[in-house]
Amino acid sequence: MSILDHYAQIVGDDVIDQLQQLAQPLQGKSVVHVNSTKIGGGVAEILTKLVPLMRELGLESHWQVITGDEPFFQCTKAMHNALQGNPVPISQELLTHYEEINRDNAERLRSHLTDADFVFIHDPQPAPQLSLCPNRQGHWIWRCHIDASHPYRPVWKFLRPFIELYEASIFSLPTFAQALPHPEYIISPSIDPLSEKNCSLDNDEVQQVLQEFHIDPDRPLVVQVSRFDRFKDPVGVIRAYKMATKFHPDLQLVLAGGSATDDPEGALVLQEVKTEANHDPDIHILMLPPDAHRTINALQRGADIVLQKSTREGFGLTVTEGMWKGKPVIGGDTGGIRLQVVNYHTGFLVNTPEGAALRIRYLLNQPDKIAEFGHQARELVRENFLLTRHLREYMTLMVSLLYGGGDRLELS
Ligand code: UDP
Repeated sequence: MSILDHYAQIVGDDVIDQLQQLAQPLQGKSVVHVNSTKIGGGVAEILTKLVPLMRELGLESHWQVITGDEPFFQCTKAMHNALQGNPVPISQELLTHYEEINRDNAERLRSHLTDADFVFIHDPQPAPQLSLCPNRQGHWIWRCHIDASHPYRPVWKFLRPFIELYEASIFSLPTFAQALPHPEYIISPSIDPLSEKNCSLDNDEVQQVLQEFHIDPDRPLVVQVSRFDRFKDPVGVIRAYKMATKFHPDLQLVLAGGSATDDPEGALVLQEVKTEANHDPDIHILMLPPDAHRTINALQRGADIVLQKSTREGFGLTVTEGMWKGKPVIGGDTGGIRLQVVNYHTGFLVNTPEGAALRIRYLLNQPDKIAEFGHQARELVRENFLLTRHLREYMTLMVSLLYGGGDRLELS
């Protein structure tokens, strides 16, 4: 079976037919995606699936990665933080180095990029590539995956001249966009329903994982999967859990996150979490390795309710993941969580631990609502936040750039 057949089983034949129609005017067109890492992080995860799927649809799709040394990535990490609003000045020396490394990469990449019909440059790391490819033929698009709504001005002032040269840019949410002198498109992120993190699992496997972590499958369970980061409010989750146990003493909580050994703030937050948990045997604080995708999948499936009580959030893929598993989500009223969690439909938006506790109580008292919201949550993700929708929007953008100045394009 082809990859498209697998997706058809999940999203239906119509969605795949539509992708195939959109791909018609793009047959044989070359598309190159450029980012700065092959593994790790959401961009790499999306490209891993998007690039082969584009190929299957008849586009000549490629993925190039820029390389750099430690000071380069130190600089781009600082840029990332600065675009997200942290006032981090970057030295002139590092900025010069950033341009030099981009020049080195351009020497290597130019032959792949000059003739490409479409070039998607992802995030700030490779942003100068367009200015370094003077004989370019195709359409160049800057794809920003981060929240650039309130950037630290000096860093934005440095990057903006590189970015405004693009023909278009893409942001994940309307509120993330910066004013730029070209068309800006909003394309939200997606999850891959066939990945280890999101594929369907046998109930036996779910039960086995619950058993492994000494979680009682016969008692109610709420789960939050998140890095140990203050913006994810794990301490607030424990407070909400403690309040909810007054009405449901048999409630269990899982807080699952990655190892914090290389992240001093993560270690600090983890310590705060442990202090708040105070050795409660029904609070399971799990440190999982970065590739524990199936384990996370099983924990989300084992939950009655998924929590994502963030106080600030980009999109919140963990919300999408929980919803895809048919779970109602109680999420912080912020960022991309608001796009996904609809009150009394797919879950509840909350602002405080008290609010979260109240909603946990509401749902546990009404198992039919858990099932109803969970079903609606899965359908909302199916319609809006799967990889196939993401690809459809990329291809729509490509068709419109290709035929923007021409007559109407009719899709049958
Ligand atoms: N994740 C993971 N292991 C962890 C914590 C998170 O694999 O210990 C995954 C999680 O399943 C999701 C992603 O990392 O796919 C986090 O994305 P999200 O948008 O929720 O938050 P971010 O960490 O990007 O702020």
